[in-house]
Amino acid sequence: MGKLHVKVAVIGAGMAGLVAARELRREGHRAVVFKRADDVGGTWLYDPRVESDLLGLDPGRDVVHASMYWSLRVNLARQLMGYSDYPFLKKGCGDSRDFPGHEEVLWFLRGFAEDFGLVELIRFGHEVVRVERAVEGGRDQWAVEWRRRGGEEAAAGVDVFEAVVVCNGKYTQPKIAEFPGRSTWQGEQLHSHNYRVPKLYKNKIVLIIGRGISAGEIAKDILPFAREVHQASRETNPQVVKLNKVSGVFQHPMIACAKENGKLVFQDESSMYADVIIHCTGYRYHYPFLKMEGLVCVDNNRVGPLYEHVFPPSLAPWLSFIGIPYPTFPAQLSELQSKWVAKVLSGELVLPSEEEMMSSVQEHYQRIEELGWPKHCTHKLEIGKFEYENWLADRLGLPSLEQWREKLALIGLEMLKSSDGNWKDTWDVDKWMQEEGFGKQSLNR
Ligand code: FAD
Repeated sequence: MGKLHVKVAVIGAGMAGLVAARELRREGHRAVVFKRADDVGGTWLYDPRVESDLLGLDPGRDVVHASMYWSLRVNLARQLMGYSDYPFLKKGCGDSRDFPGHEEVLWFLRGFAEDFGLVELIRFGHEVVRVERAVEGGRDQWAVEWRRRGGEEAAAGVDVFEAVVVCNGKYTQPKIAEFPGRSTWQGEQLHSHNYRVPKLYKNKIVLIIGRGISAGEIAKDILPFAREVHQASRETNPQVVKLNKVSGVFQHPMIACAKENGKLVFQDESSMYADVIIHCTGYRYHYPFLKMEGLVCVDNNRVGPLYEHVFPPSLAPWLSFIGIPYPTFPAQLSELQSKWVAKVLSGELVLPSEEEMMSSVQEHYQRIEELGWPKHCTHKLEIGKFEYENWLADRLGLPSLEQWREKLALIGLEMLKSSDGNWKDTWDVDKWMQEEGFGKQSLNR
């Protein structure tokens, strides 16, 4: 039997949507990419605007997609940020550092879209507002309703597709820290999603909640401007707190309550007054356009049920999700998942039966429980194992990840945790690769 070629809607044109479009086309499918913004890049398209609700709680707010702040430099070496056949070369907009600023990634993605002729597949400025199953000509299909904003060009419509690939990103819908008195506290509160530049915090006392990468980096960014920077988190392990400590930033346990007089009381009963609280507390998976009647939903940040984080068993392969698992190499993971989706849609690869996929999902949930991880960690991959990436490569008949990638990723993780604030400038990744016997990845073409 010949390959099946289908009409596919791809939602998003970031790192995931672009490679999904390329792989779908390579496999002979007709891809149409819907993109809310007027340029490719997703997260990497820096937007100076912030949302009207700085905590992102109001569902009716005008959504700003990107969570980029102006000073952001990548935290994954550029050697790990490219696609398998399209490395992140040192030639973009002139920032040839191993850990360049965010603009360089945007240039890389624009180059990728142009070099593979993907721009012609993209409907810019088209926000998808509804995706629903529809029976057309006696066949199960997908109705994709879209809206185009803006003056004379405003428009809306519905198109029908045989398959939908969701690539809308996972860093737009903020998750905030809750504590008694939070909603009535009189100071300014924002989520890191709406953090852009440090000068706004000049002479202010800022409390950052969280202990992840963004919390540390934003603390460092604000430190030269603010009167004082404090950090609170629910992390109780003193070793972890010590390891992630930014020099000059005062450390606290989590806030126990916020008083009406503005005082913030911590769990160890110490207290302080602050002008601003920045919630660096992560994001939620969010698919407001999916009307799935419970066949796939988000429950406590578990998107499910999903076979291997990609296919809802009862709708496979006609609905799929790219880019859900973490931590990983986003470009490479999206590429592997996209190849898998494209080949399953064409019939070149076959999925297990719906029942088998469902039992695999249940086994995965069981494993999460055994690891002692809460439900919201369903899509978390075990650090340093790379089993998922290699499982995908194996499905596709591709070799496992090169050893240098695995090792570089692990060393990078150690660096992220190190107290050396300048590691992105002092670590010569090419030199390290040569010393380790991995040769040099040519990024200078
Ligand atoms: P996105 O880049 O978010 O793209 C999603 C796309 O979907 C966008 O184009 C958006 O406009 C579109 N969209 C959303 N909803 C709709 C809709 N309803 N209709 C139409 N279009 C829609 N990764 C690294 O590799 N290295 C790093 O150093 C790194 N640092 C990061 C720092 C921060 C602060 C953040 C937030 C992320 C970072 N990442 C990093 C991860 C980053 O998210 C990935 O690199 C990558 O951008 C993910 O791509 P994506 O396509 O999945 O999502």
